[in-house]
Amino acid sequence: MYELTDIETIRRLLAGRDFNFSKALGQNFLIDPTVCPEMARLSGLTGADGVLEIGPGVGVLTVELAKRAKKVVAAEVDARLLPVLAKTLTDCPNVEVLNTDIMKADLPALCKEHFADCGSVSVCANLPYYITSPVIMLLLECGVKFRTVTLMVQKEAAERICAEVGGKDCGALTAAVHYYAEAEYIFDVGRESFLPPPNVDSAVIRLTPREAPPVGVKDEKMLFRVIKSAFAQRRKTAANSLAAGLGKSKAEIIEILTSLGIPETARAETFSLETFAAIADKL
Ligand code: SAM
Repeated sequence: MYELTDIETIRRLLAGRDFNFSKALGQNFLIDPTVCPEMARLSGLTGADGVLEIGPGVGVLTVELAKRAKKVVAAEVDARLLPVLAKTLTDCPNVEVLNTDIMKADLPALCKEHFADCGSVSVCANLPYYITSPVIMLLLECGVKFRTVTLMVQKEAAERICAEVGGKDCGALTAAVHYYAEAEYIFDVGRESFLPPPNVDSAVIRLTPREAPPVGVKDEKMLFRVIKSAFAQRRKTAANSLAAGLGKSKAEIIEILTSLGIPETARAETFSLETFAAIADKL
């Protein structure tokens, strides 16, 4: 067993492999021994469950997930880490490492192939921050019903994702995530918990996908276009942003807002999911 939160151990494992931490791939490895066991615990895994990890790095979270799950599939894009993972995961026969870019993966096919014998499938990952929003939307929209999605993200992103829809911190990602899942802000992780330390602090969040969306809407695609457009220009009124984003005249948008009893000066962060859905239905 390797002490994977020990800096010297990590350096030794990576030495002589022409490895340099890639900023572009968000390679900041966890060195706080308390974080990964807690993330794995929060995933609520049972011995019958499968778990998908995105970006295992040297396997520090992977080994914790392997202790609790029936099967772990870890998708790592950086091929330089594969021989390292082969070493650090020798004692984890229930782990499979795939050399895969998660953004290009066919998640329903991957889950069907690897987790067919598992009770349910969850996701647990210390995300590379450059793909936070697209990965979250991919996980929520791909059609796989994950039981829990436990993620380390930038603190600012965590606050945004877990904000209240209709509150001042709400953004497009807040509204989109809340349509699919309940979002909980779990705990903070300081920048000093990583090697190398990033320039920002982080936080762990947990998303629990809903059985059914909290609002009905005729066309989900239109709902997401409305949400995206409404927040695209945060300093402008929702009417201006919606008109620009949807390619409609401001008069048309104001007519829709007025018919819903919304003042033309309203801003997107005051809208509830019901309001976004009602606008989408009118369009
Ligand atoms: N899980 C490790 C830990 O907690 O120390 C590493 C986390 S590090 C923040 C992000 C990891 O994601 C890196 O190993 C990086 O190579 C990998 N990664 C980056 N982009 C990826 C992608 N598109 N698909 C899969 N893995 C990716």
